[in-house]
Amino acid sequence: MNVHDSERMLGTLRKEGHVPVNDPGEADLIIFNTCSIRQKAEQKFYSALGRTKHLKKRNPSLKIAVAGCIAQQEGEGMMKRVPYVDFVIGPQNIDRVSDTVMQGFGIFTDENPDLALADDTAERDNAVRGWVNIMYGCNNFCSYCVVPYTRGREKSRPVANIINEISELSAKGYREVTLLGQNVNSYSGEVSFPDLLNRISAIGRIERIRFVTSHPKDLGEKLVSAIKNVGKVCEHIHLPMQSGSTKILNLMNRKYTIDSYMDKIRMLRHEIPGIAITSDIIVGFPGETEDDHQATLSAIKEIEFDGIFAFKYSPRPMTGAAGMQGHIGEDVKSKRLAQVFELQDVITLKKNKALEGREMEVLVEDADEGNKYSGRTRTNKIVNFSSERDISPGAIITIRIEKSFRHSLSGIIVE
Ligand code: SF4
Repeated sequence: MNVHDSERMLGTLRKEGHVPVNDPGEADLIIFNTCSIRQKAEQKFYSALGRTKHLKKRNPSLKIAVAGCIAQQEGEGMMKRVPYVDFVIGPQNIDRVSDTVMQGFGIFTDENPDLALADDTAERDNAVRGWVNIMYGCNNFCSYCVVPYTRGREKSRPVANIINEISELSAKGYREVTLLGQNVNSYSGEVSFPDLLNRISAIGRIERIRFVTSHPKDLGEKLVSAIKNVGKVCEHIHLPMQSGSTKILNLMNRKYTIDSYMDKIRMLRHEIPGIAITSDIIVGFPGETEDDHQATLSAIKEIEFDGIFAFKYSPRPMTGAAGMQGHIGEDVKSKRLAQVFELQDVITLKKNKALEGREMEVLVEDADEGNKYSGRTRTNKIVNFSSERDISPGAIITIRIEKSFRHSLSGIIVE
């Protein structure tokens, strides 16, 4: 979501006549688009911000803006704490980035009901795959998460805006879109999310549709049926489990049990054999005992995700979990995180090895110098291959997988 917000700000500024530079020393405006989902991201931001202070001395007309969730969280306090910051732009106000540039300074952290109606301005980095917002904000209030406080309540984009944006991407030659929302299953435009997938699948050259993120509590039969039956919807779902312990899931306010999560995994695998399932895991949530941690390891072992993103819990301002009893020490969190990664690494490699010899459809994204190419399968696995003839990014070809690694596959073109 943040990467796409940056693409949108870049596009808006470009339209105003600004151009990006590679060296911060040459910039008239530096925007930090920040993430506050974890403490570590916040610490990294403050040290990067500190490194720009001397640039202002060298160039007094340089403006420094802080955008994103830390900006929203800190608001006016950010400008008091760091006096050389000129603008604070919350994630609901990224469409106002050009106003802020015109005015020279300001704080833009209001609720913005018009964000869902704002035009697409994104200047995308990738010419084959595009991110497309379908909704903003979140109503779920998971107890560890700052997003509902920074990105506000859920707002769905009208269907026509989404279809127009994707139609334009199709006309520019894009082949794949990833629909973005904190909780896409609760999309509430004029149609349901599965119906939206159907509408998008009618758009010209777009051949693949993906979406992130789905909340397990809202994953129902209708969406599973859309993944199964709408040909352009890829066989991959990111379904954050967070913990294998129902006690911890309750404390996290996730509104599902580990048994109901397992039921959904079984439904997905039964209806869509071969579907790739990835997940998010948080270790060391307050009150997590060794038994709870073992329950997470058992669930990972049983489910065999294709891949996971796993993190140590860190307290976030305003959230319920920050004030809970039973915070876990860093050493225990680190040990648990290492165990999760160690287990998942074995599973990921095993799952990738099982693909050796299989022929898979690959959307070509990159061509290195020489004859090296890479792309992704419908299940979102990276595939590297070589070709003597030129292949354009955006081509869809069949590759026989010859060798599998943990983070990628390699193969040869099937003529
Ligand atoms: S669903 Fe939970 S974890 Fe995801 S953005 Fe909303 S509050 Fe945060």
